Amino acid sequence: MSETAVIWCEQCQADIEDDSLGEEGECPQCGTVLRSERRPVPWTFKVMLVASVVYLGYRTYQGITWVIHHV
Ligand SMILES: [Zn+2]
Repeated sequence: MSETAVIWCEQCQADIEDDSLGEEGECPQCGTVLRSERRPVPWTFKVMLVASVVYLGYRTYQGITWVIHHV
């Protein structure tokens, strides 16, 4: 996920990179809030997140039991 989104600022008549927006999503040059609402997180992302957490937890559990049996 290295793509840089660009938001058009009416005030500056310029493209503002998503990365350079302020804490509240405001334009670094004029202060107009360009990103008023955060994009909703797609459910597929949540599922992937939960799946990876479960997977990592399982791997950690495996690692711990391996260590216990090999000490
Ligand atoms: Zn601006």
